[in-house]
Amino acid sequence: MHIGLKRKPMLRPLTDIPIAAFPELMRELELKPYAAGQVLKWLYQKRAGTLGEMTDLSKKTREKLSSKFRIDALEVAEILEAKDGTKKFLCRAADGECVECVLIPADDERWTVCVSTQVGCKMACSFCRTGDMGFCRNLTCGEIISQLRIAMRTCPSLVTNVVFMGMGEPLENYESVAAAIRIFCDEQGFAMSKKRVTLSTCGLISELEKFVSEFDIKIAISLSATTDEVRNRLMPINRKYPIAEIMKFCRKYAKNTRHRVTFEYVLIGGVNDFKEDAARFVKILRGIPAKVNLIPFNPFEGSGFSAPSADTVAYWSSYIYEKGIQTNIRASRGQEILAACGQLATAATAKRSSPDQS
Ligand code: SAH
Repeated sequence: MHIGLKRKPMLRPLTDIPIAAFPELMRELELKPYAAGQVLKWLYQKRAGTLGEMTDLSKKTREKLSSKFRIDALEVAEILEAKDGTKKFLCRAADGECVECVLIPADDERWTVCVSTQVGCKMACSFCRTGDMGFCRNLTCGEIISQLRIAMRTCPSLVTNVVFMGMGEPLENYESVAAAIRIFCDEQGFAMSKKRVTLSTCGLISELEKFVSEFDIKIAISLSATTDEVRNRLMPINRKYPIAEIMKFCRKYAKNTRHRVTFEYVLIGGVNDFKEDAARFVKILRGIPAKVNLIPFNPFEGSGFSAPSADTVAYWSSYIYEKGIQTNIRASRGQEILAACGQLATAATAKRSSPDQS
């Protein structure tokens, strides 16, 4: 049974509204213009959970706001905590759909929130559990913002980094993602540093061209193969944007912006983890200021793939490092709560997409 947000279906989430539209909103509600700044501060700096908590607003202002608005577009349905401190939040939208976001601690006081952008995903990468469950819908800006607010409220320290590496392909939901990034980085929003927001994509090059012309945040590309033959099998999008086209984009991007590009490479045992792949990988990256995240495949039931051996991961890491490229092995955090890369899929949605009519 769904309770909670369903009680107020007509109320619009304040987190859906662009910051620049707040003064106009106050005029429409016949409120004082300075209330815009006050409300924004409560939303994004003080992270109030309810309008009632906004104690420096007059009672009348709070009443007017609450007759038309709620704050968040999602409510927390469940929180799972792993031994390593990683927390996974199952968040439910007003229509009952669920998405997940993950709060990840790092040793050096950095806290990262990994946000989802879609319920499910259309990209159908064969090694990804989200891809496995199919596509349901795009998230709204408010639903993306609410994930960050939800994670922040339980974080013992400041959240310093946001990564678009949860469920979905962010560039397939361009408008909502763009609106959310504006709120992340706005001084009156979360005031996050552009250097600490990363958008990860499977390589939708024409959308990426548009994105980098508009936003100056960090980008990551999920490559995960060194030949088109293997990449076509793992990531169907490669038929539209093959490896050479991705690399052409990266060279131009690096030349124009002088930014580094992060490459994610999911190492899958016996599929894309051969020594020849490592050599080809380094060759492909030649001339691009790059950083590599090696992600050992996180197994899930029915995937048909297996994790690489520890020796293989160690080999790749030192080989790439010796060639002068910064490399991290993305530790599989929160694996026992299925919060690790590519394991995000809500039970509710996974159930819906399970083959029951076979
Ligand atoms: N669609 C975007 C954003 C998702 S990021 C993208 O593809 O970049 C999720 C990251 O986890 C991607 O780098 C993806 O390749 C990786 N991933 C997916 N399934 C995985 C799995 N089972 N094990 C390890 N990494 C996985």
